[in-house]
Amino acid sequence: MATSTCCSPAGVADGGDGSGADTSGSAANGEAGATGSEGDGDVILTGLGATPGSASGEVRIVHKLDELDKVEEGDIIVTEMTTPDMVPAMKRAAGIVTDEGGTTSHAAIVSRELGVPAVVGCETATEQLHDGQLITIDGEKGTIRAGGQRSTADEGDEEEYDAVEAVRPDTPVKPMTATEVKVNVSIPSAAERAAATGADGVGLLRIEHMILSLGKTPERYIADNSEGEYIEQIVEGVRGVAEEFYPRPVRVRTLDAPTDEFRQLEGGGDEPVEHNPMLGYRGIRRSLDRPDVFRHELEAFRKLFDVGYDNVEIMFPLVNDASDVRRAKRLMEEVGIDTDKRTWGVMIETPAAALSVEEMAGTGVDFVSFGTNDLVQYTLAIDRNNERVADQYDPLHPAVLDLIDHTIEVCREHDVATSICGQAGSDPRMATHLVEEGITSISANIDAVRDVQHEVKRVEQRLLLDSVR
Ligand code: PEP
Ligand code: MG
Repeated sequence: MATSTCCSPAGVADGGDGSGADTSGSAANGEAGATGSEGDGDVILTGLGATPGSASGEVRIVHKLDELDKVEEGDIIVTEMTTPDMVPAMKRAAGIVTDEGGTTSHAAIVSRELGVPAVVGCETATEQLHDGQLITIDGEKGTIRAGGQRSTADEGDEEEYDAVEAVRPDTPVKPMTATEVKVNVSIPSAAERAAATGADGVGLLRIEHMILSLGKTPERYIADNSEGEYIEQIVEGVRGVAEEFYPRPVRVRTLDAPTDEFRQLEGGGDEPVEHNPMLGYRGIRRSLDRPDVFRHELEAFRKLFDVGYDNVEIMFPLVNDASDVRRAKRLMEEVGIDTDKRTWGVMIETPAAALSVEEMAGTGVDFVSFGTNDLVQYTLAIDRNNERVADQYDPLHPAVLDLIDHTIEVCREHDVATSICGQAGSDPRMATHLVEEGITSISANIDAVRDVQHEVKRVEQRLLLDSVR
């Protein structure tokens, strides 16, 4: 049994200088001896701190899915990279360590949502660590130490309870802000925790987890089951979150999984083999290429509207220009969605999208949302999952900020709402910049909502004072 403690309830990793987190792309900063974790040994590995908090427990190396059963409550999962099938084991674990990935990888996104401390991108963790080894990880500093305080089974139950409480946000006292502060959700079962933050809604509900956890590609699932069952899976997954937040808005993004993630599923053998899946057949490109499959996602939205979930909004990923948007809009209309009545919009994830925003604003979009995880990788040519270049992955790079600022300015002129739902929205420094630029809403991770709310309020008050002084 293991111990696990998270950081302050606000939970945003603080670099120690009080400046707040840079959980979105700061490089591994695991200086030996600098961790405040309980581990009593030397730092034996470093990676990227992905979910703040420290945890001690026994290593369980997981190479293959059939090894997941060996992960017990309080163990530390050590794996190349997590996948949606690992989520039940991730929930049992006290901590997560991966060889691969950056701070916007699956392991990082899901562990943050579960509140489980995680260190990603350690490169050789699965080789250097061994089953049963007691370690302590620090998910803020990105360090792994030998040893740690292992509790007894009885203490463990209590510790485990405390650990769960420690990562659950306190009852929120929500500061009133003109800029809305929303929350991101990737696992529907995190909806309750997300709603308890007092966020103004969900700024991004990813449906990849719902669909990938069916274990089959959408095409195979439909072939083996039926179109109706596929639609129902999406309806049910979204409904839980829409219900939890009602009447607060829930912005649901259509499917955006790269082919390498589909390949691991049943039916994945039919996926194209791509040299670089991040630049390949994903997001709206795939959806527009397979309207026969995509329309089932849209039918799920129509069904949700029909039964009264008028808080559901639709968002399209990875659009490049207005023609992508017009085609998606036409498909919504074809399945019977009234695009004037419903709230819908697109993600700004490529420089092309940012530079085409004026024309996109004329298509009828209600909002755009910055997907900075991708916008940064496509602007700086830094693979977001490549730990070797993670130290150059900088959401605050002037080129990225220029694209964002330009987009906000154009959208304000055209009365289109602007938002951010990439990881960078959880960084108070980015929040400050965006409020100054006039963004409409910011969507943050569950553990960062409170800090972002306070930062937004502070900046808004400063802007008001400046205007009257
Ligand atoms: C993004 O790119 O910032 C985003 C939110 O989408 P994802 O991380 O799912 O690619
Ligand atoms: Mg993206």
